Amino acid sequence: MFICPVCGYKYLQNIPRNCEVCNWNLELTEIHPEQLDWAIETWKNLGDLQGKRKRKRVTVADLLPKINAIESELTAAKIERENLRNQLDWVLYYIETINPEQVTETLSKMRIWLEDNHAENPPCLRWVWTIQD
Ligand SMILES: [Zn+2]
Repeated sequence: MFICPVCGYKYLQNIPRNCEVCNWNLELTEIHPEQLDWAIETWKNLGDLQGKRKRKRVTVADLLPKINAIESELTAAKIERENLRNQLDWVLYYIETINPEQVTETLSKMRIWLEDNHAENPPCLRWVWTIQD
């Protein structure tokens, strides 16, 4: 029986050139003890890392905070969309109520007003609004 000096895998017969588990060169006869220690330590660390990765399975509990955050964003977006729709309805309603004749009349009143005042005092919006009504 031959035991891999790095990973400890036991070969009962047909020893390969490289370990089938850790790929260590099994034909090496003269190995510096520090090199072997490094290889053993590295193999151990690799095993620990793989173990940690396997244990870290994503569960519903892990995803719950993210799901809640997305749900909140969705609710906020829904409210915002509803507000925009209401505003759009209001704008559409306002556009429907505009009387083209009244607009023309208001513009002509403004023109007269501007000509009378030689555009020295431009009308304020409130004034335009009141003559429109
Ligand atoms: Zn090995």
